[in-house]
Amino acid sequence: MKRVVIIGAGIIGLMCGVRLAKAGARVTVLEAEGDNLSVFSAMASAAAAGMLAPLSGADSVHARIALDSFDLWRAWSPGAAWADGVRFEGAVVLHETGPEAQAHLARVQQAGRAAAALNAGQVRRRAGLAPRTDAALFIEDEGVADPIRVLSGLAMEARAHGVSLRYDADARIIAANVVVTHAGERHEADAIVLAPGAWAHEALVTAAPALKHVGGVKGHVAAVQLERALHPNIHAAGFYLAERREDVVLGASMEPGVYTRNVAPEQVAALFAAAEAVLPGQVKPTGRAWAGIRPMSPDGWPLIGPAGPGVLVAAGHSREGWLLAPITAEIISAYVFESAISPAWAALSPARFES
Ligand SMILES: Cc1cc2nc3c(=O)[nH]c(=O)nc-3n(C[C@H](O)[C@H](O)[C@H](O)COP(=O)(O)OP(=O)(O)OC[C@H]3O[C@@H](n4cnc5c(N)ncnc54)[C@H](O)[C@@H]3O)c2cc1C
Repeated sequence: MKRVVIIGAGIIGLMCGVRLAKAGARVTVLEAEGDNLSVFSAMASAAAAGMLAPLSGADSVHARIALDSFDLWRAWSPGAAWADGVRFEGAVVLHETGPEAQAHLARVQQAGRAAAALNAGQVRRRAGLAPRTDAALFIEDEGVADPIRVLSGLAMEARAHGVSLRYDADARIIAANVVVTHAGERHEADAIVLAPGAWAHEALVTAAPALKHVGGVKGHVAAVQLERALHPNIHAAGFYLAERREDVVLGASMEPGVYTRNVAPEQVAALFAAAEAVLPGQVKPTGRAWAGIRPMSPDGWPLIGPAGPGVLVAAGHSREGWLLAPITAEIISAYVFESAISPAWAALSPARFES
């Protein structure tokens, strides 16, 4: 039986843990923080909006990966312990001009996905909002995950499949086939998977030098009040809205290289100003806002694959870690069990930044 140690219990580490355990590996997940999850936790996964929006990078060479990952979310959710934390109700994209909306519609249809043009009245009936623009689009293939619900459901699912989940366990030494925590616990492994988000310390970077290419980008999110339930996600210039199980969130700012997690009122105000410009008087603050640090790679796509002796990396998922978690788990599982790696998967190798 393959022994796998995963470092990091964010969405990437947990999704890989469940996938590997289901495939027959003996999995241990080490998480430096405690298990009291909230939007104020250090992990990006807890602070995120959780949108599953595969068509936002539709013109990238990696676009297929995003669509495949979205399809895996749909395929894996029925019956999962976290199924009530995900919804697939599409998205309304508000454009400034008709030609912009038409060009976007053509791109979505070229990707083989369903979309339709909407006018302002149709947006109002579909999403309960009255936009200033008459140029909008409905995209069918989009969804949203409630991060805290899905993370706790995944932890349950992991334990049910025999995964050993160790909290307050900072991986300090990563050597050939062994990981040692700050408390001196030793974990032997045939494969070690590094999923530390934006928080790789020196020992992790020494084990997998490609991790030095993952930087932090701070993002703010605010909980908002709307007059009516929203259902589909909303995208527009400078903001998005997503309705989760218990709140509706407005996101998200982008501040590269900022690692402090305090709420900066001017960043939150900029998000509300962007929403006000398109949806006047409709997006109201609740007074709740928070910030997280995204693990960002130089091209915005993750580093997935071998990165040192016995070491695999699954990091740098940037703005799309929630969306890309299932495909990441598939790829990591293929590396661990030495199955075929498609050219599209190989293109995400951490080595692409090392030459
Ligand atoms: C404001 C905001 C909005 C976002 N919105 C979306 C969205 O709508 N859709 C989307 O797809 N993505 C979104 N993202 C991005 C997404 O959240 C991230 O890409 C994703 O959560 C990264 O997951 P991760 O597991 O790699 O990292 P994290 O969630 O940060 O988890 C990494 C974990 O590793 C642990 N760790 C680090 N070092 C060690 C060590 N040495 N030993 C043990 N444990 C260690 C850390 O404590 C941490 O808990 C958003 C992010 C932010 C901040």
